[in-house]
Amino acid sequence: MSQSQIVPRPKIHVFNELPHIYEIDDMMAFCKKHERLYICGAEENQEYLLKYFDICGIKVDGYTVTNPAEQTLRRYRKIPIVAVDDVIRQSGAGIVLAVSDRHYRHFIPKFREAGFSDYFAMTEYNKRAIANQLKPRPIEEMTFEINIADHCNMSCQMCDHYSQLAEAHCVDPGIFERDITRMGEIFDHKIACITLLGGEPTLHPRITELIKIARRAFPSAELIILTNGLLLLELEHAPEGNIWSICKEYDVHITVTVYPLKFDYGALERKAGEYGVPLAMSSNIHAEQLTKIVKISDKHTFDPAGKVGREYCVCCLYFNKFNVLKDGRYYMCPVAAHIGIFNKAFGQNLTLAEADSLDIEKVDDWKRFAEFSANYVPFCRYCDLKNWRPHSPWKASTKSIEEYI
Ligand code: SF4
Ligand code: SF4
Repeated sequence: MSQSQIVPRPKIHVFNELPHIYEIDDMMAFCKKHERLYICGAEENQEYLLKYFDICGIKVDGYTVTNPAEQTLRRYRKIPIVAVDDVIRQSGAGIVLAVSDRHYRHFIPKFREAGFSDYFAMTEYNKRAIANQLKPRPIEEMTFEINIADHCNMSCQMCDHYSQLAEAHCVDPGIFERDITRMGEIFDHKIACITLLGGEPTLHPRITELIKIARRAFPSAELIILTNGLLLLELEHAPEGNIWSICKEYDVHITVTVYPLKFDYGALERKAGEYGVPLAMSSNIHAEQLTKIVKISDKHTFDPAGKVGREYCVCCLYFNKFNVLKDGRYYMCPVAAHIGIFNKAFGQNLTLAEADSLDIEKVDDWKRFAEFSANYVPFCRYCDLKNWRPHSPWKASTKSIEEYI
């Protein structure tokens, strides 16, 4: 494969900026108070803000700008563009100031002069963050992950793949090959990155075979194994193949999550160096006492009643970012994709709708995945994002539902 065929990946390993949730609350209260609503500005960020209001069920009457004749809408559905001088004379009208701050001087003095105070000034951060969450990603930023083993050799509190609760289950290599081959066709064999994870991916006895299959389907993608690393040293001598030499030969990167365990993470670094395998550690392995690393577990709280407002979906770190391929379907996120494990362990019924995933056999163009991922899915109603936060230093799971509610 020549260098020019390699898909560059500028931003895939950074988290999306997540909109300020308190500002979302204030903006929603403002919108609901007004009979007629206008978005000030009519360019990219404002078009995605309209998409956001559509998701939230907020009716928008138009964009408002100084000179409507100069505007062209390109990215989302068309609505009227009205001169701001006309809007501020309408009774019951509210304006969401979504245009860049540097243009406020063209609007706010005019509003004051007219005695118009029904406007909501968004922060620059939320204008950008909401638009970025709702913008379909270009192919250079498309990724997906696959659980190759649902279970794990660790048992962490609040695991977001519910692996400490899972029965032993490894992906069937035949299904893996069928699905990833199909994804290769849809993406024309080009995607930025694929992550093989779990649970603990190194528990899959045929992991080296899966690596070869994935590489065949996507010759130039970044392939990552995301692992707790505990088995990597012994898998050098696995009868099914030496994972280190396979990773080198098939250009696979290894990312190890470091936990506060008595484990020689330095030995992994040395082994990776010996084989020339790119290795990343997700905590500081050069800390003086590795066993004293403080890893904070995040609590991803559910509302099992499914009553969470649609407006919060964009405040989720998984939204439009961590897509999952599982059993022939493409999901928004691992939280939705693996919810069956949670339901089974706790006798719950957080339900997946047809619209929570796409059947990959019915998708012909990767852009459908990009559109799907940049939109609300019904499962988001269970995610109580106002109560998602770093919770407590890492510890073993108690396997109780309180870790999730
Ligand atoms: S090591 Fe990772 S996958 Fe395994 S239980 Fe902990 S958080 Fe979950
Ligand atoms: S289903 Fe939950 S975790 Fe997944 S994107 Fe929606 S809010 Fe986030």
